[in-house]
Amino acid sequence: MSSRIYFDHSATTPLDPRVLDTMLPFLKGGFGNPSSLHEEGRVASAAVDRARAQVAALISAEPEEIIFTASGTEADNLALIGAVRASGKPGHIVTSTIEHAAILETCKFLKGGGTKITLLPIDSDGLVRTDSLLRALQSNVTLVSIMAANNVVGTIQPVEELAHLTKLHAVLFHTDAVQAGGKIPLDVNRQHVDLLSLSAHKLHGPKGVGALYVRKGTALGPIVFGGGQERGLRSATENVAAIVGFGAAAEISRRELASEPRRLEELREYLAAQLKHRFPQSYVFGHPVDRLPGHLSFGLRGQEAGLGKMLAALDRSGIAVSAGSACSAQHSGEPSGVVLAMGYDAERARGLIRASLGRFNTAQEIDHFLDVLSSAVSSLTAGHGDIHPAEEAFA
Ligand code: PLP
Repeated sequence: MSSRIYFDHSATTPLDPRVLDTMLPFLKGGFGNPSSLHEEGRVASAAVDRARAQVAALISAEPEEIIFTASGTEADNLALIGAVRASGKPGHIVTSTIEHAAILETCKFLKGGGTKITLLPIDSDGLVRTDSLLRALQSNVTLVSIMAANNVVGTIQPVEELAHLTKLHAVLFHTDAVQAGGKIPLDVNRQHVDLLSLSAHKLHGPKGVGALYVRKGTALGPIVFGGGQERGLRSATENVAAIVGFGAAAEISRRELASEPRRLEELREYLAAQLKHRFPQSYVFGHPVDRLPGHLSFGLRGQEAGLGKMLAALDRSGIAVSAGSACSAQHSGEPSGVVLAMGYDAERARGLIRASLGRFNTAQEIDHFLDVLSSAVSSLTAGHGDIHPAEEAFA
């Protein structure tokens, strides 16, 4: 066990050593440009092709339907802006109030160009309301974009049902599956999805590489212009090592889908049960059942105002959890917009602690976490603002 305990896998995940091993040859000798016709180029091109097939297999797509991008954010931008550009009109995008900034900020940008944006409300568990989607679909819609799983509270949306309704109106359906990829089964055909975003660093792959699944026949315009790589949808010399790592990470996640989500769910349930037992004042955010396997967002009644001090104390004691999404560093102290949209008041929304577990976490780490949390709560309640030094010595 490392000396620190990392419970922030919704922000990013450590690189799996098996993934690093597949990347290293492309950071050393295998430097070729996949567009080159000589052997160096052919080796790089074959590696990118293999990764494309591995990422496609994770979501039951065809390899040629995968467009590599530089991030999940870029995949989201390409889906929304690309669909509007291809439609040749400002159009109308329907999305939800709890999407990641990669969607909401792109919608804001498109709105400036005349695109109509409809934000669907969610219920207190974080689920998009089907009735509101049906109402929105009564008008002319270019694309519906609903995330597969939420980054703040972990709620999993009924993508298959929402996409099916969208298809009945012959409207494109995009899902931001950056949090869901590799953690829950995804099947673009069974789920009627036309466009789907992924990001490697959320599934123990490298940072700075993402993918957009584009169903065959879906009209999309590029947002990056140049040499025509990635079927003209994402020009730029491919980041070969990162793409290779993404492929390996996708394959490992796919192979482990039969066992790892169950293990994470058991760990999360253990954490939830212990939390309830040791902190009767605790409350949990998000859907009670339809939630990401390793994700638990919770609050401690009476401790909300001191959340910053609490997280700092945990950090000093070697524990990384987060106050919401990773982007909260840019908006620290602000209540979570997702939790406000779920109907909680600002105090509760400010008190959210996100523990997101991953591949290398253990039950022993959860026990340590709870011990340190307990000391932090006692110290903060007693007004010390710090935890007892003896409690910081655990490893
Ligand atoms: N979408 C969701 C739901 C996310 O949680 C994130 C990252 O936190 C992103 C998109 C952005 O992905 P990336 O960090 O690869 O740009």
